[in-house]
Amino acid sequence: DFQYPHTFVLLGASGDLAKKKIYPTIWFLYRDNLLPEKTRFVGYARTKQTIQEVRQKSEKYMKVRPGEEEKFEQFWALNDYHAGSYDKRIDYELLNQLITKYEKGPVANRIFYLAVPPTVFSDVTVNIRNACTSIKGYTRVIIEKPFGRDDVSSNKLSQHLAGLFKEEQIYRIDHYLGKEMVQNLLTLRFANSIFDPSWNRENIASVLISFKEPFGTEGRGGYFDDFGIIRDVMQNHLLQILSLVAMEKPVSLNPNDIRDEKVKVLRHIRPIRKEDILTGQYIGNPEGKGDETLGYLDDPTVPKGSVTPTYALAALWINNSRWQGVPFILRCGKALNERKAEVRVQYKDVPGDIFDGHAKRNELVLRVQPGEAVYVKLMSKTPGMNFDLVETELDLTYSLRYREASVPDAYERLILDVFMGSQMHFVRNDELTEAWRIFTPILKELEDNKVKPLPYVYGSRGPQEADGKLKGYDFKYSGSYKWIKPTP
Ligand code: NAP
Ligand code: NAP
Repeated sequence: DFQYPHTFVLLGASGDLAKKKIYPTIWFLYRDNLLPEKTRFVGYARTKQTIQEVRQKSEKYMKVRPGEEEKFEQFWALNDYHAGSYDKRIDYELLNQLITKYEKGPVANRIFYLAVPPTVFSDVTVNIRNACTSIKGYTRVIIEKPFGRDDVSSNKLSQHLAGLFKEEQIYRIDHYLGKEMVQNLLTLRFANSIFDPSWNRENIASVLISFKEPFGTEGRGGYFDDFGIIRDVMQNHLLQILSLVAMEKPVSLNPNDIRDEKVKVLRHIRPIRKEDILTGQYIGNPEGKGDETLGYLDDPTVPKGSVTPTYALAALWINNSRWQGVPFILRCGKALNERKAEVRVQYKDVPGDIFDGHAKRNELVLRVQPGEAVYVKLMSKTPGMNFDLVETELDLTYSLRYREASVPDAYERLILDVFMGSQMHFVRNDELTEAWRIFTPILKELEDNKVKPLPYVYGSRGPQEADGKLKGYDFKYSGSYKWIKPTP
């Protein structure tokens, strides 16, 4: 298909996501010659502006290296901008004419990226369907979260989309699925004999999946407050990772075989119970600097007295023969002590101990960000004359092992996948249904009862109660592991 004309239409081209993420991403793909040769780009939004103005706004995010100036000019020469409403069909017909103008030959494909707020989503999709569907090639639409805010709104959205497009035309982005380490889960699990036999309730005590951010809402809490950390991170990104960690081996690497297994394992999970969740909200640190002194409720865009969580820890239980009784702990928060996303699989204590209780548990850690790494924490004999135990690691740090390789950005990978027609790393309709089934009751419970989140200090590890909760879920922390960073 790559020899034919392609048009990439960015709706909401005047917005934040467009300038910071999507324009830079399509530039990187173009620069690296990864896109079909005859690809053109069209921005669309209500704002009346020229393509030069679009360029000015996004340029500072686009990183042009010395020697790439000419290519950068070529890229912009392939770009158009068209101003129009989101709700009037006539505007989309004009957009359609603009696209058609460049579609020479028997086949031409179109991709629509919807970087618009959910309020206009319905109009935009109807108009694309009615006025902009390609008549001589494929039409694919890329959509961004939020995919609804509970089971009812999400199902409504799914039905709306299903009335307009086939599932194979719909690419729901969860950009965590574009991350190197998340994509590596499948390989680590199913291309190694070492992990597979122990990947079960006999050997694994708990699985901890964490997302930590070192900053708060920084004056943009208004949008966040409507959703909260559970919808923003846990119900989508963390649950997606969980499904890849926990699913059975797919029949093949075919995207639908993989997604079938993801759905299957989600179906084994009961809705989260009240006693299995803990929520928090950050408060300012009086001893901190700048933003650190401000709590969530000090953000002027956050409604007074809001009980929206900025931190959450929840245990999910998978009721199948591989995982029954093993807690999968999802944990995420803003304004914490560090930036980190990781999966931590903690193995059980060694049975039949002959080391007087000195052996600590093994952990397999997949660090998603920052600094991709896979390491196994294990026990070894201290080197030398004595026979003591020491905690150490088998360590695969990407920056040391793959010095030449560059890890592409998640969006880059995912947008390229859309051109290639690969839905492997996109969320299928039925995955979404399961995700909301698991999370809707607890969200309702928290919201209907205005459950007050526990306070935690900006820059801390989260509410103190969270560590007690971890202990209760058979996650052991010894505090004795010492990491010595290898010198590069
Ligand atoms: P945005 O800047 O607020 O909106 C994008 C464009 O939509 C605006 O430039 C504006 O263009 C139009 N728009 C804004 N509010 C509107 C309204 N009330 N009615 C009609 N049009 C309106 O949003 P964004 O940050 O780019 O995000 C776009 C989408 O991606 C959203 O659905 C968001 O939830 C999702 N998302 C964003 C991020 C992110 O990092 N920003 C991350 C994940 C998901 P015109 O006025 O020119 O038409
Ligand atoms: P660790 O220090 O033993 O921590 C294990 C887990 O326990 C983490 O999730 C940790 O942090 C959590 N924890 C910390 N204090 C706790 C407490 N009081 N109660 C309960 N849980 C607690 O092991 P590690 O985090 O795997 O490694 C230590 C350091 O070495 C890290 O900075 C790691 O990045 C680094 N390291 C790097 C590599 C590499 O780059 N390849 C390899 C090995 C180690 P949170 O709860 O704050 O998440």
